[in-house]
Amino acid sequence: MRKSVHQLIVAILIVVVPEMGLTGEMLFSGKTMGTTYRIKIVGDHLGDQEQWQALIDKRLDAVNQSMSTFIADSEIGRFNRFEKIDAPFSISNGFLSVMLAAKRIYQDTDGAWDGTVRPLVNLWGFGTGQMTGRIPSDDDVKTILPATGFYLITISEKGFLMKKSSRVTLDLSSIAKGYGVDDIATALKQNGCTRFLVEIGGEVYASGKKENGDSWKVGINTPRKDAPIDQIYKVVELSDKALATSGDYRNFFENKGKTYSHVIDPRTGYPVKNGVVSVSILSDTCMVADGLATAVMVMGAEKGLDLVNRLENTESLIVVSRSKGSFENIYSKGFTNFEYGKH
Ligand code: ADP
Ligand code: MG
Repeated sequence: MRKSVHQLIVAILIVVVPEMGLTGEMLFSGKTMGTTYRIKIVGDHLGDQEQWQALIDKRLDAVNQSMSTFIADSEIGRFNRFEKIDAPFSISNGFLSVMLAAKRIYQDTDGAWDGTVRPLVNLWGFGTGQMTGRIPSDDDVKTILPATGFYLITISEKGFLMKKSSRVTLDLSSIAKGYGVDDIATALKQNGCTRFLVEIGGEVYASGKKENGDSWKVGINTPRKDAPIDQIYKVVELSDKALATSGDYRNFFENKGKTYSHVIDPRTGYPVKNGVVSVSILSDTCMVADGLATAVMVMGAEKGLDLVNRLENTESLIVVSRSKGSFENIYSKGFTNFEYGKH
């Protein structure tokens, strides 16, 4: 009897202590970029929740105003309608930093990631609007390919872009969520917050430690088309690290028994089909993690792994589908250092 009362007191203390104001936490959630976001901040004297929310809203609005293809007068929307060749198109500092990082990803991945892939994405029916499920002809692909290629855009560090072809357009949807995560993370840090988790549509950045001093634990989804949306495949521990995952299990269409991925190989113009069902990348920034995740989907397991193992502070888990629905997990050199329960 005495023992259980004692246990009860200990349990109450454990539950109550964090709520007595030693360390507080705040949660924020909502919709952005056609998906959802969740943010958790931890710390002493966090202040007013509404002020943090206003900061988050302001930053998300700015990212959308810059990079959303759904907003007609966004920077990207205006650039896509700009048809002059070799004429400067002025861009904001934020957009410039995204374009410079994008160029690095394009070069590092030998063009497997290409931010000008949009006409091909549209051709395959994955653009804005309803998925068409129609398979284009080889001629259609051949006609559109020359309108794509990141090299068709010149980036000037003075703050402008130039087109080498009037038809070239930008689609940064595969790095926009990651960029949004990084942008919020920067804003939180600038305002004195060092312990937080930011997530937009499954792309994550974790700063510092949780309220109990542990690293943040983040789940990677099971890459199966029929798996429940929140089923967890692996858990990683993050502290001052980003995690992004790209997969072919959510966004695809079927035609005559074949499935077509929304990830397109920009060099051929065709959806990728290399057995890779999911790629998770750990990196220092979420934008790079996001872009590399898409790129490794295109490059395939062997070349993708090779690239990740060459890049500093970058790790990956590549999941490949084998016969009868089984999976093979392919780990980069240091990935298991982050896997929960593996070290
Ligand atoms: P998700 O949006 O499911 O997280 P990704 O981050 O992998 O997936 O981004 C996929 C989107 O990126 C596609 O819908 C398309 O707009 C665009 N995309 C497809 N293939 C490429 C590619 N090779 N390089 C850059 N962007 C791509
Ligand atoms: Mg991506």
